[in-house]
Amino acid sequence: MYAPALQDLIDELGRLPGVGPKSAQRMAFYLLKVPAEDALRLARAISDVKERVSWCRRCFNVAEGGDGAECDICNDPRRDNSVMCVVEEPRDLVAVEKTREFTGRYHVLQGAISPLDGVGTEQLRIRELLARIDAEGVKEIILCTNPNVEGDATALYLASLLKPLPIKVTRIASGLPVGGDLEYADELTLGRALEGRREFSQ
Ligand SMILES: [Zn+2]
Repeated sequence: MYAPALQDLIDELGRLPGVGPKSAQRMAFYLLKVPAEDALRLARAISDVKERVSWCRRCFNVAEGGDGAECDICNDPRRDNSVMCVVEEPRDLVAVEKTREFTGRYHVLQGAISPLDGVGTEQLRIRELLARIDAEGVKEIILCTNPNVEGDATALYLASLLKPLPIKVTRIASGLPVGGDLEYADELTLGRALEGRREFSQ
């Protein structure tokens, strides 16, 4: 129906999360209409991020630099190695950082258990988490996954996995909006939830 190049753009945009065929079409025509420099700025931002940003080899947060880079938090010698906050995504790490309540390390799972989306335990960075506990002398793990079905299932799974280890396993306190994401909780509420964390009981 459209010129092949335009159809390609519509198809690619339509593959983005949360973008349906109609929105993809609208975005493609928008890009067609704006001056070339504006559209190319978007193209450049995409290619720059793919070139310059990767995953931290230690915690799987975003890190600047190619493969094998470490993120700013892992690079910071002042952070406390003994406490580790386990989150689903880098944006959750940012939410916890904003509370200024946490000075330990992080581990980013890069997802949560979600059978409907085809995400099982093997898709998450769990093996890498287990490898860090002994190597880095972790004494407490705070399960800071989202307060929804997937986040709770992930916390439950991790708690049972970590139970035999001689470490404290805690879960952030309830009081966060149930079913929501950490990133939408305000700093004060999330800070309190972190402070009020409790030992995981099954
Ligand atoms: Zn890191």
